[in-house]
Amino acid sequence: MTSVDLEFEQLNSTVDALRRSISNRLMYGVGKDAVTAQPRDWLHAAELAVRDRLVARWMKTTRQQYEQDVKRVYYLSMEFLIGRTFTNALLALGIHDEVRDALAGLGIDLNTLENLEPDAALGNGGLGRLAACFLDSMATVGIPGFGYGIRYEYGMFRQTIVDGNQVETPDYWLRAGNPWEFPRPEVNYVIHFGGSTVRHGDRTEWIDTEHVNAMAYDTVIPGFATTATNTLRLWSARATDEFDLSAFNQGDYRRSVEAKNTSEHVSRLLYPDDSTQAGRELRLRQEYFFVSATMQDLIRRYQRTHTHFGRLAEKVAVHLNDTHPVLAIPELMRLLVDTHHLPWDKAWKLVQQMFSYTNHTLMPEALETWDVEMLSRLLPRHLEIIFDINADFLKQVGEKFGRDVDLIRRISLVDEYGQRRVRMAHLAIVASHTVNGVSKLHSQLMTQNIFADFARMYPDRFTNVTNGITPRRWLSQASPKLSSLIDERLGPRWRTDLFELGRLREWRDDPEFSKAFHDAKFASKVRLAARAKLETGAIIDPNALFDLQVKRIHEYKRQLLNILHVIVRYNRIREAPEKAWTPRVVMFAGKAASAYKMAKTIIKLINDVAEKVNNDPLIGDRLKVGFIPNYGVSVAELIIPAADLSQQISMAGTEASGTGNMKLALNGALTIGTLDGANIEICDAVGRENMFIFGHSTEEIDALRATGYRPRRIYEENPELKLALDQIRLGHFSPDQPHRFYDIFHTLVDWGDHYMVLADFESFDKAQADVDAKFLDKEAWTRSAIENVAGMGIFSSDRTIAEYAKHIWHVEPLSVTS
Ligand SMILES: *Cc1c(COP(=O)(O)O)cnc(C)c1O
Repeated sequence: MTSVDLEFEQLNSTVDALRRSISNRLMYGVGKDAVTAQPRDWLHAAELAVRDRLVARWMKTTRQQYEQDVKRVYYLSMEFLIGRTFTNALLALGIHDEVRDALAGLGIDLNTLENLEPDAALGNGGLGRLAACFLDSMATVGIPGFGYGIRYEYGMFRQTIVDGNQVETPDYWLRAGNPWEFPRPEVNYVIHFGGSTVRHGDRTEWIDTEHVNAMAYDTVIPGFATTATNTLRLWSARATDEFDLSAFNQGDYRRSVEAKNTSEHVSRLLYPDDSTQAGRELRLRQEYFFVSATMQDLIRRYQRTHTHFGRLAEKVAVHLNDTHPVLAIPELMRLLVDTHHLPWDKAWKLVQQMFSYTNHTLMPEALETWDVEMLSRLLPRHLEIIFDINADFLKQVGEKFGRDVDLIRRISLVDEYGQRRVRMAHLAIVASHTVNGVSKLHSQLMTQNIFADFARMYPDRFTNVTNGITPRRWLSQASPKLSSLIDERLGPRWRTDLFELGRLREWRDDPEFSKAFHDAKFASKVRLAARAKLETGAIIDPNALFDLQVKRIHEYKRQLLNILHVIVRYNRIREAPEKAWTPRVVMFAGKAASAYKMAKTIIKLINDVAEKVNNDPLIGDRLKVGFIPNYGVSVAELIIPAADLSQQISMAGTEASGTGNMKLALNGALTIGTLDGANIEICDAVGRENMFIFGHSTEEIDALRATGYRPRRIYEENPELKLALDQIRLGHFSPDQPHRFYDIFHTLVDWGDHYMVLADFESFDKAQADVDAKFLDKEAWTRSAIENVAGMGIFSSDRTIAEYAKHIWHVEPLSVTS
């Protein structure tokens, strides 16, 4: 490698310099002039001009990481729900206003361009968004790290609502190109599948495999107000053979590209429908594809500056975001033992010093397992390695606890009941030095329930790191009005030290601040109302209480509890329209997994109820119901700042943490919620008097189940609830198809009501009455809203990342000098 001192043009960020850069990039980067340029071309040109200013920082950070031979974090996640990058980069670089003015000088409106950028929707929900917040915080705090994942060509499906039903269309987010990524064709690894294994003495070889290439695409992740940046490296599948030329020459065009297409499916789509065998197999291929490329990349990077593996664990921490990347464990063992000829014990020791794992669910049915038969077909060598790890592990269990057959059966990495399956969470725990839950409650329940045996086996292995969110995106970017109000009082430091917000308490009783706060929130409500009118024609009054439940549609999150209460409210208003009702707009948003029938039926019910309520002249503005389509990061940034009320109503013990709850509270919404996940810690931070807590606690849920829960009795004894449920059952909201919601009714009343919706209804109703009363007292409401914002310091993902860095990864922030 030669090293030449290159000369660069100095890129200033004055308005003039930016205007010239954007014009240059339009001409030389996009290939258009001002006459032919479409808005999208201007966006592209502006993005390139901003990107140029990021790249210098990126190079510098990367170089200093090498020079200082720092320990690096590899954050492995199947999902990164990043959303848009443009505005985020402008704020990180501190050039938002300059770029706005530069564009204005060219006759272009920044805001219009911002809304043209497609979301990078490479994730489903909370887990993927957490990974995106972590990248932002790692860069901002200066933790040397990489995100590693898959460059899905099609992100999360786009949701439209047609006749009240969810309709899914492909999200081809790369159509117009992605200026934030750099293709790295030279960073390319071969990924093997199938074949079989042979032993040569004490060596094993994996032979007769099929292959696909993994090619890297790098996205630069800017830190906020720092020169430090990080890299998100995403893998894209490339066929090892472009196409079958002889088939092509014989005119068989379809066969000529068949193999190429099949192998490249691996990075085509986020979460193929796993209700079919083919879908599950593709998902397993995806998981292996990305961790194999990542582990090969890790070893290559380490070997560039080290001659033997002795210091590997000092230089590398590998973090597993849930179990999806767990195959990284047997893959690294395979590479170290089979390819680099390390002794098994030495390799295993390194692995255990490097890996850590975050669990994201307490629901046993949501823990990932893989069919042994499928593994033996696709990854025969890895299955052998897993069996070997299991044999050693079960031996240790025996040494510690004696011959306890039941324990062995429960704790084994292989589930032997029925069709044999590998339990990925068990493998993750055995191989990791640290396992964490994502809220205090979740971490505690984790060691009491699903992993109780492991907690006895490895009492020091388990810990808690409560989730967080990045205040840059979720307050500074999403809510400009509220942010500038906070800036006026506190200055801008809260963006990197969120505890600063605590000082807002000084002004909670100050009428002037209270009014300004109320006005800032009101502006976000007006913004949302204007968008709703523009896009759907719906008229909503920003003076009404905006009540939001926005998150994936899932029975455990209990959108049904919310809509049941809407129906009861509707009936009550019809009974006595003259009473003083607190006007409400109840909004839902969220996607249902494409194979999850019940979730889709819930969406239809919400829309059918909305249709009825919104068109009832007796109801008027007292109650409106809306379903906002295509929930994603950008939609969240629009609607979360407009919320007065945040619904966080999962059955206690089911929501591991939640992060939507944090975003809403940070934007001054009051929470109506159960004592579940991070709601409990939010309650500690903002004060119970500033929330509406209701429902059974985890202990009470357990007790109720143990004594025999009888939902039908609740149905029979509460006439208003009975009426609402009967209306659902008898087609009151679906006269065109009276039995449409039969399953919903019976799930709640006759089939056990697994998520205890009816058990919590009465308490929910009381809490809702408190909400209505409090909203009429504007001052009291605003004071509580201020208390919510003020208490959110601890929920910055900077705090979360600092805890991971200190207690789990053992890495220090890098000081990037300029
Ligand atoms: C924060 C976020 C989530 C997670 O929301 P929860 O309420 O915690 O389930 C899901 N999707 C998007 C787009 C988000 O921004």
